[in-house]
Amino acid sequence: MNHKKALKHNIFKIISQSAKELNLDSYVIGGFVRDYLLQRGNAKDIDIVAVGSGIALAKQVAKNLPNKPKVQVFKTYGTAMLKYNDIEVEFVGARKESYNENSRNPVVENGTLQDDQNRRDFSINALALDLSQDNFGDLLDPFNGVEDLQNKIIRTPLDPDITYSDDPLRMMRAIRFATQLGFTIEKESLDAITRNNNRIKIITKERIVVELNKILESKTPSIGFLLLEKTGLLKHILPELTALKGIDEVEGQRHKDNFYHTLEVVDNIAKHTDDVWLRWAALLHDIGKAPTKKFSKKVGWTFHAHEFEGSKMVYHLFKRLKMPLNEKMKFVQKLVFMSSRPIVLAQDIVTDSAVRRLVFDAGDYVDDLMTLCEADITTKNPKKFNKYHNNFKIVREKIIEVEEKDSIRNFQPPVTGEEIMKTFNLKPSREIGIIKEAIKEAILEGEIPNDHEAAFNLMLEKGKALGLKTKDE
Ligand code: ATP
Repeated sequence: MNHKKALKHNIFKIISQSAKELNLDSYVIGGFVRDYLLQRGNAKDIDIVAVGSGIALAKQVAKNLPNKPKVQVFKTYGTAMLKYNDIEVEFVGARKESYNENSRNPVVENGTLQDDQNRRDFSINALALDLSQDNFGDLLDPFNGVEDLQNKIIRTPLDPDITYSDDPLRMMRAIRFATQLGFTIEKESLDAITRNNNRIKIITKERIVVELNKILESKTPSIGFLLLEKTGLLKHILPELTALKGIDEVEGQRHKDNFYHTLEVVDNIAKHTDDVWLRWAALLHDIGKAPTKKFSKKVGWTFHAHEFEGSKMVYHLFKRLKMPLNEKMKFVQKLVFMSSRPIVLAQDIVTDSAVRRLVFDAGDYVDDLMTLCEADITTKNPKKFNKYHNNFKIVREKIIEVEEKDSIRNFQPPVTGEEIMKTFNLKPSREIGIIKEAIKEAILEGEIPNDHEAAFNLMLEKGKALGLKTKDE
């Protein structure tokens, strides 16, 4: 098959010409070809294999490009990269790889195109298009990758046990591609991943997280997490999630399986947000339930303070996976910590003051919190389902109302500590805290509006009750 059409961009002509000048063969390989055949839109990452020096080819291409881009050379890997407008082109010399037990970094020697295709992870990622002038656009598909694309199959070019053991990151990649593309991992591969799952330990946390994020960013993340669980990878990566699996029954009382519930929540939220951190919050919102689970005859199953426990676990989990311990983590922590608040609210009559308190505590995260809580409604009882959703609608409306009236979201006390000290001629003392708290409470309860005059009057009243005298008295 010829696919000249895939190579319409003038960069390919220039690579082809440059390769000719250096008297070597070159090919486009991997994701670009795969995504072209899947019609997944224009790829901005192009991988080029040169049978010869990839670095030399990159430099020649740069010379021939109108904008003469800089070539970034990665000597240790024998690769080079350049940017041309919004396209990133990576060059590598065709290579043969052999692996040892403890590292995913292979011993590398020069090889043929076929050698290079052999080292690729999946048949669908080993597809190459010829860039030579005589065969421009010819497809080289030694492992029937096109057939696998049509049948939606993830398959390794060589023995899957060797492929996955050599570079265990490929286990994560297989599951990630299955999730992103909606493909099936063929049985031999899935079995090999299961057999090799503990090899994931030699992979750096950062690389694992890259794949986890891509799974989470997919349309239906549960596909990936179910595969991670099924193959035994999940217990090595996110044991907090596998701990949620299972249903216990004592004296005829059962609780729901919080692992499958969590996956439902993640799929639900994926329909409403692309924010990967909000999706992380959905994934982790119930992790505190495993360590807090208790049964008592009186009340049945409880997960007392699981939100607090869960938010602490978020920190340890992020730290272990070398994820950022910054405001993104704090966001996830806060959402986990508050994840039951709107639900409690929605089970009852929604009052203004409860909504004001919610906005006060959640601040700028309140909309994301609502999105999480809506996704958390997985009840199969249509009556309850509708009731909760309707109540959440009311909560959302009231949030806007309360916002307009009282701007609670980023609450700043309308009367400052300084003003209280000045008015009553006070030094820093307990009374100031008491008055400030009384003002805040009155605003949240809706007893006074959130403005200076009302708050000042209340301050005078509270001060009097505390036996304080103003300067003029
Ligand atoms: P995406 O851009 O969606 O991640 P991609 O296939 O382009 O998809 P890259 O990580 O950029 O992914 O890799 C480019 C190509 O390099 C792949 O298509 C594959 O041929 C090869 N490759 C990448 N990682 C591995 C690996 N761990 N083992 C074998 N081949 C790999």
